[in-house]
Amino acid sequence: MNVPMLDLAAEYRDLEAELAAAVGKVIASGRFILGPEGEALEHEVAAYLGVKHAVAVASGTDALHLALRAAGIGPGDEVITPSFTFIAAAEAVTYVGARVVFADIDPATYNLDPAACEAAIGPATRAVIAVHLFGQTADLAAIDAICQRRGLTLFEDCAQAIGADFDGRRAGAWGALGCFSFYPTKNLGAYGDAGMVVTNDPKLAEVVRMLRHHGSRTTYRHEMIGYNSRLDELQAAILRVKLKRLDRWNAQRRERAGLYQRLLAGSPVGLPVEHGRGAHVYHQFTVRAPMRDVLREELAARGVASGIYYPVPVHRQPAFALDHGGVSLPESERAAQEVLSLPMYPQLTEGAVKSVCDALREAAASVLRRKA
Ligand SMILES: *Cc1c(COP(=O)(O)O)cnc(C)c1O
Repeated sequence: MNVPMLDLAAEYRDLEAELAAAVGKVIASGRFILGPEGEALEHEVAAYLGVKHAVAVASGTDALHLALRAAGIGPGDEVITPSFTFIAAAEAVTYVGARVVFADIDPATYNLDPAACEAAIGPATRAVIAVHLFGQTADLAAIDAICQRRGLTLFEDCAQAIGADFDGRRAGAWGALGCFSFYPTKNLGAYGDAGMVVTNDPKLAEVVRMLRHHGSRTTYRHEMIGYNSRLDELQAAILRVKLKRLDRWNAQRRERAGLYQRLLAGSPVGLPVEHGRGAHVYHQFTVRAPMRDVLREELAARGVASGIYYPVPVHRQPAFALDHGGVSLPESERAAQEVLSLPMYPQLTEGAVKSVCDALREAAASVLRRKA
């Protein structure tokens, strides 16, 4: 049985009529930028997350960039982020002229290690970006406590974790600003680029609102140099259709993860660890194996797709290596060598999960034979 990493076409087949109506309504209205769909989406997402304000922007990367700028992070400031993640958080810090300081991860959850975060604080540190990787939040209680004690602004990169929570408070509702991506493959995905910034602070929300629209809140009056980073009405309408299904889809991801856990118990791969303080929404189901690359080949030979998120930690990327290549982050570097993400999406059938697990056990046995 061939199993892909994800199947957006299956999702589309379920929603086709409703999406066609939503998209048709926007096109017929003739309003494409900053209109009622975007506003409604902002209210719905804010209510879903339990925050006061949400501002839709053009991508998750822009959400991080505009959030940092709104909070006044800039030249001379240092911002602590993990290195074992997608590059966007570190890029955003660089866009505003601040300096990235990479801290290591907790090897069990792949998220920022609070002790490593605290150890990375120096006189110029102004902020921390906690990334909630693979669908599980970082240890927000510990990181928030550090930020409060040391006077730092907490940002959350929630691109992979919409709907996840820590102690009953949703990802995005902990930091001064929470940043979301609706990239098509995320748990809530648009049919193009899209993102959102959320906050409980009305002043920060207002600044992000201006920044996304050329520094303007009244037509042709520009109070600051901003950007063109608006979310269009078509994407907003599509996201509203999908948001209604998000909780069910996340529950389905959790069920599939539970089945993977049962079927892979006692196998040679390391399984995901839940912190037990809130829901993991399994953007990815990521296992760990020392001979990862051979295992991946053996899986592919059996028709099972897999992904490596991420093969190179950000401090070792060519774009950052000049300044950070000498930094040692052993857990981030080891994770980059060992992680392997298995197929995960709400429409994944039980039969497909079983096939993946059978293939994985066979592949692991074959890897051991090759090693011997
Ligand atoms: C996807 C992603 C982003 C960037 O979002 P875009 O919408 O692609 O700009 C940022 N951080 C993480 C952890 C992501 O997974």
